[in-house]
Amino acid sequence: MDRLLEHLNQAQRDAVQHVEGPMLVLAGPGSGKTRVVTHRIAHLIREGVPASHILALTFTNKAAEEMKKRVEELTPGGRTWVSTFHRFGARLLREHAEYVGLTPNFTIYDSSDAKQTLKRVIEAGKFRTMHYSPERIGAAISSAKNKLVTADRYEPRTGSPLSHIVAEVYPAYQKRLLASSAVDFDDLLLHVANLLYTNAEVRATLDSRYRYVMVDEYQDTNHAQYVMLRALSVDYPNLAATGDPDQSIYGWRGADINNILQFESDFPTVNVVRLEQNYRSTPNVLRVADQLIRCNLRRKKKSLFTEQAEGAAVRLAQYTNQDDEAKQIGLSIAQQIASGKRTASDFAIFYRVNALSRSLERGLREAGVPYQMIRGQEFYQRKEIKDVLGYCQLINNPRDDQAVLRTINTPTRGIGRKTVDLISEYAYIHGLPLLDAAREAVQVQGLAARSAKKALGYVQLVDKLSKLAAGEMEEILGTILEETGYRKTLAESESEEDLNRLANIEELLTDARQFDEKNPGGGHLETYLENAWLVNETDDWQDDTDKVTMMTLHAAKGLEFPVVYLVAVEQGLLPHERSINDEDQMEEERRLAFVGITRAEQELQLSYAVHRDFRGQRRRTVPSPFLLELPREEMELIEPNNDSLGYPMDWDNFGEGGSERDESNSFDEYDQTATPVEATVELDESRPSLRVAAAQITTASKLSGKKEQVAPT
Ligand code: ATP
Ligand code: MG
Repeated sequence: MDRLLEHLNQAQRDAVQHVEGPMLVLAGPGSGKTRVVTHRIAHLIREGVPASHILALTFTNKAAEEMKKRVEELTPGGRTWVSTFHRFGARLLREHAEYVGLTPNFTIYDSSDAKQTLKRVIEAGKFRTMHYSPERIGAAISSAKNKLVTADRYEPRTGSPLSHIVAEVYPAYQKRLLASSAVDFDDLLLHVANLLYTNAEVRATLDSRYRYVMVDEYQDTNHAQYVMLRALSVDYPNLAATGDPDQSIYGWRGADINNILQFESDFPTVNVVRLEQNYRSTPNVLRVADQLIRCNLRRKKKSLFTEQAEGAAVRLAQYTNQDDEAKQIGLSIAQQIASGKRTASDFAIFYRVNALSRSLERGLREAGVPYQMIRGQEFYQRKEIKDVLGYCQLINNPRDDQAVLRTINTPTRGIGRKTVDLISEYAYIHGLPLLDAAREAVQVQGLAARSAKKALGYVQLVDKLSKLAAGEMEEILGTILEETGYRKTLAESESEEDLNRLANIEELLTDARQFDEKNPGGGHLETYLENAWLVNETDDWQDDTDKVTMMTLHAAKGLEFPVVYLVAVEQGLLPHERSINDEDQMEEERRLAFVGITRAEQELQLSYAVHRDFRGQRRRTVPSPFLLELPREEMELIEPNNDSLGYPMDWDNFGEGGSERDESNSFDEYDQTATPVEATVELDESRPSLRVAAAQITTASKLSGKKEQVAPT
């Protein structure tokens, strides 16, 4: 048999060998969806499709790199475009910047730069924002962008004061971004989707360039991504999506689960492939995962089986407090490593929010276990890194006002707030970028001659640095550090903090050197910046070192580990407190727990602590309601062996209100009562009353434990 198809089951082969027309691979975790994508790319190339006609999109750089590597192994030399949506958006936008009013060298603002810009817009426009914070306003703008509502089409709604503020601020914010030739993350998708939607010629060209589009993790696409994909699949409708609606966990970022639920009606000729064999996990893990996810009403049922042998029982552990939880997990991992049974890289610890990692770090450190914590962006968020890159940004795009504001008095060169305000006002009146306004400093009314001179000094410095643009990155950064005096200022400082900063700057230089080695000859400033702008949480994850991995549940998507610990499975943390009163959000939290559980290959432990210090408070916790939904009779329960605790694990009475649970109310029955509602609810967003009804059924039957007879409305 063809080597390419050798390690695939029949359903996977069908998917891999599908060439023309739309396809949807709908399957649960660990069933080989990602494997199908890489093998299909290789297969298409074998079939004679030019690699340049193939586009594969996913959500993280790590996943994209992984796919690229696999494809390269399967068909050496094939150069397919495998990318994240955002990188792909940036690439298309650089090619067609003029259509949306940008220059091709536009800057991509990260969330903090975007927030600063928004704040400045609000201040400069003297908008009355009532009690709404810039964050709230920014989130509303972001949500509009994800739904492809442009600034000129945004309509305020009666009864929503926030929407009236957004209706004023959004256009001003967008105008400011364009004036700086800058985009925020959402714009990368919004501009591209709009371009494809409004420009038939560009759309047709790109549709014909990317004839075979593939998307992994399709359940997490938002509306803008959906429109992009549809637009690229009109003349060549070969869109192949793989995904699992039960793993949709980015609703808060605008992901729309309906994209995958409606794929079949979007593409009536679609070839739907279901993969049912799981190759990742033991039956024990799968049963726990399945019991949990069956409690979601808004879902399509799927079956999943495995041929793997029955493994270790899934553990459910109760600890006295978070330190105990961390210590016991650390000791247990250390023991397993010492016994030679496992190595550190076999283990992963997941948590709902990063703040939960502190005690775990200590636990692992004290047990002498090497670990890596996946935190992502942090390095590029540091002040000193942003300062230095601010100069690079300005060299690359002199219209970037945010970069001017960041660098004009960094390190301090006596250009005060008042000077900056006067120059900003002048820029505003004359419709100039800040740097050009500073160039005309002597004409700025009210600006003292001394201040004007300093501003001019800054402009000359930037001009001098700009000559470096075509050089190598190490040289560019090195010169910036010298010429601006940045390095000297830090080196002369006696504070510990500044010494740390200096160390980080050195790390940046090392990073630049490595970049130069990979991209020799210089002239790659923009690529370098783009890598920094579009980093993801999992980018710095090293999968080739022997360390325990610690990460959030969101970052864990798509990954797998022999042993998984899921900690702090407590009410308010998982599910997160802001989800508790909203059944849709509760379902998303349940999916998040499902994603975590299904990363485990051989062993899984869920745990909670009776007391937890969180956000500066010690609290008696309530175990997560999700724990009630698991098949506890087949799980191994681990309780602290000291009775002094005073909190025996009382399974039937835990949870708020300690309601009695009627075991005869099996989920099968409750599925039956809910099914007629579910069928209507699934695809029909316009009937919220049914959704509410469904939500009430779940809540009612879970809380009271009584059988509910519900007639569908
Ligand atoms: P997720 O939903 O979590 O992203 P997935 O459906 O993408 O999962 P993969 O990651 O592609 O699943 O595959 C899960 C594991 O099973 C991987 O280790 C993969 O190599 C392995 N696998 C997939 N198909 C087969 C097969 N036919 N034979 C052996 N192993 C397989
Ligand atoms: Mg996958």
